[in-house]
Amino acid sequence: MSRAIKMRRAVGTHGTLHRIADLQKRHDTKQTLPTLLCDSPGCGASVKFVAEHGYIGLNKGAEHQPGCRYNAPSYLQSLLSTGADPDVLLAMGDGKYELRLLILQQALKRAGGGEPGASPLEGYLRTLADLLVLGAMCESDALLAAQVTLRLGKKKVDWDNFFHTQERYDAAWERLGSSTTDLPMALVGTVRSHRSPQPGSMFLNCAPKYQQTGVADRRDFYEVSVGHADAAWLQSFPVGAEIVMFGLWRQGRSSTSSRPHPTDPRRTITSVTHKLALWPSFKQQLARVE
Ligand SMILES: [Zn+2]
Repeated sequence: MSRAIKMRRAVGTHGTLHRIADLQKRHDTKQTLPTLLCDSPGCGASVKFVAEHGYIGLNKGAEHQPGCRYNAPSYLQSLLSTGADPDVLLAMGDGKYELRLLILQQALKRAGGGEPGASPLEGYLRTLADLLVLGAMCESDALLAAQVTLRLGKKKVDWDNFFHTQERYDAAWERLGSSTTDLPMALVGTVRSHRSPQPGSMFLNCAPKYQQTGVADRRDFYEVSVGHADAAWLQSFPVGAEIVMFGLWRQGRSSTSSRPHPTDPRRTITSVTHKLALWPSFKQQLARVE
């Protein structure tokens, strides 16, 4: 577990927000980079843009304040203590918590059935989104897994079966195919495009996982998309943004396409595309990682 998170944004000394993309542009065009500070309220640690790795990190000797959102262990404790609620996030002592997924699963099923959404659920969804964003910023679920146990009814759920980064889309897809329990899952992705196949529906597509299969001339792709009627809302997550998406996922129909090998006319390349789709009932089911 890294000591600090790689930051996606920071503020200049006059309070201007700078994101990685504009800092990279300034770097590439040899412009002077601004003096940067941590943008978390009350922190202001001295940070710098690390162009080789495309992120913002602490300057030598600088530290994030306790409670700063980039001070992962301390920020996690503050999220957990403010989100604690015996029904959903139960304090177990020693700073450890148990997160109840059953209430989420049931609420999503109810909402999917067209019943009005429960508004007390919103606090729970926000806490869960904050936890998942933190997991995505750490680029691993290790910190979360050390502090938070997931439980679905009587069953303990491994974080591996709940939280999936792009490298593990195939595991999420496999799980959907074999699971009969409608386990809610969280996926982390990078927005690649928005498409509207017909009026009244919009899809946000993430960069897929490309998988070597070990079978000659066969490639597997795992595509992740989110569908919703509110196009403006999905488009508020711009191309290139990193997002977390959680809820009850569905497998789409897999498709197969073939094309000639670029250099060997006797061979054919076959691509199999596997699809994972989410239709969120609540807007808190999507959150930007930044
Ligand atoms: Zn900070």
